[in-house]
Amino acid sequence: MQELRLLYLYPDMMELYGDYGNIQVLKYRCEKRDITLLVDKYSINDPAPDFKSYDIVFAGGGADNEQTILSDDLMKHKEAIKEAVNQGTFFLLICGAYQLFGKYYKGVEGNIIPGLEVFDYYTEAQQDRTKRCIGNIVTKANIDGEETEVIGFENHGGQTFNVDTPFGKVVVGNGNKFEDKEEGFFLKNVIATYLHGPLLSKNPKIADYIIKYCLERKANFNEKIELKQLDDNLEEKCREQLLNKFVK
Ligand code: GLN
Repeated sequence: MQELRLLYLYPDMMELYGDYGNIQVLKYRCEKRDITLLVDKYSINDPAPDFKSYDIVFAGGGADNEQTILSDDLMKHKEAIKEAVNQGTFFLLICGAYQLFGKYYKGVEGNIIPGLEVFDYYTEAQQDRTKRCIGNIVTKANIDGEETEVIGFENHGGQTFNVDTPFGKVVVGNGNKFEDKEEGFFLKNVIATYLHGPLLSKNPKIADYIIKYCLERKANFNEKIELKQLDDNLEEKCREQLLNKFVK
């Protein structure tokens, strides 16, 4: 039985709109392939985790208040997180977590929340609480060499600038900022996105990309891994309905 280890950051503070569901989908799609997903949790003042020892680090969305509260604690791990990113641990970052891996997040009150500066993008919310990117969103992203519709919903005041490698092209919705053509941030081992949903429940191909990446990394990328195909009939039916509703 193969094992993958996932570290869940600030589950008590960064879990807006059911983002924990991403872990449940990963767990399900691993177990269907006889892979055990071991989940550890980390929150404020817990003993420092060994980030680079994990296959996956996950962090969900969070309100400005929670982002402010946890910021000092998160900064303590800046160098260790950068090292884990550079050594290839997979980072799945949703919305508020996405924002905190950039240079800074300027909240709706105008307060600057320092970011980890792992990536060069930065985020600023307009100081008008009514000005938020809210609604269903569909983008097109290249997942493992295949152009795929990515479905979710967004709810963020933050507008993210200076993204050099976006995750997807916006088909419907806003994206990184109001009426943007791009959404999220992508590297081979990083998916940072505004899409709640949970993301992986509506986009099983992304879950499989993450699992496949982790297994290939465990094999030092010396072999191409073909995951056992799962029966995604229900998932595909749901996606078709959502795409018909949002796009066609
Ligand atoms: N508080 C951030 C914003 O409003 C992130 C929100 C979220 O994680 N959904 O942009």
